[in-house]
Amino acid sequence: MHFLKKNWPVLILVLFVVSIVTWVLTAPSQKQSTNSADQKLRVVASFYPIAEFARHVGGDLVNVETITPVGVEPHEYEPTAQQLERISESDLFLYNGEGLDAWADPIGAKLGIGERSWIMSHTVTLIEHDPHIWLNPVLAKQEVMWIYSALSYVDPTHDAIYKQNAEAYINQLSALDEAYAHGLKTCANRTVVTSHEAFAYLAKQYKFETIAITGLSPEEEPSAGRLAEIAKLAKEKQIKYIFFETLVSPKLAQTLASEIGAQTLVFDPIEGVSEEDQAAGKNYVSIMQENLTNLKIGMMCQ
Ligand SMILES: [Zn+2]
Repeated sequence: MHFLKKNWPVLILVLFVVSIVTWVLTAPSQKQSTNSADQKLRVVASFYPIAEFARHVGGDLVNVETITPVGVEPHEYEPTAQQLERISESDLFLYNGEGLDAWADPIGAKLGIGERSWIMSHTVTLIEHDPHIWLNPVLAKQEVMWIYSALSYVDPTHDAIYKQNAEAYINQLSALDEAYAHGLKTCANRTVVTSHEAFAYLAKQYKFETIAITGLSPEEEPSAGRLAEIAKLAKEKQIKYIFFETLVSPKLAQTLASEIGAQTLVFDPIEGVSEEDQAAGKNYVSIMQENLTNLKIGMMCQ
């Protein structure tokens, strides 16, 4: 008793140290269990098509976040400070380049191009400064391989899985390419009037022409003179359908169509997919298939 009485402060200290040690030893296991979801690679994509491709290549190994909100047209979107923060904290940032997501350039450069940030337009031969590369399935395959390279670079231990995933998705894109090549082979009309200038890569691949009502960005509204010129061209080419988009107002396309006695059809540049559409199971491949169905009507293909 004498010993305890004399040494009680030491005893309390010992008990305190033991409890600290116990806490330190047990804490890591608790931390591991709460963090298991976060052990996935954090990938951030600037807009829908890149996110969709990254989800296919990354599979279960990645969490993909999209900056441009669903159903929002990306050309004029500006991310919030919180979103920029999330990009800084990500393992990999994927963006399009060529002005589609111009806000991404400074943060991409900060993360290191070809290190933590990869630019999709760096993998293809561009038509002037047109950013709409994802709309050609052949170029989409190159994007998928680029995303595979990026994932393999930041997470080399899972290279084989990323490669296998990329190959599986590329098979789907090859089937899409074959459907387009076959579907648009024999058509009565090879000129298509579209909403904004988004389909140059697709048109080049499958040998048709596009006349766009607005410019490379949907916000570039045409002058009255330009509209009259398009109406004249469309009449001359006996165009029966004017295409409009899902994320921008169809007003101009409708006005033009009624002026020349044409009908309207959707030609979706897949710059964003609404929540309803995603819930209904729509994705890049299925929307590209819908686009092909409408193109075959518009171009009067056999
Ligand atoms: Zn666009």
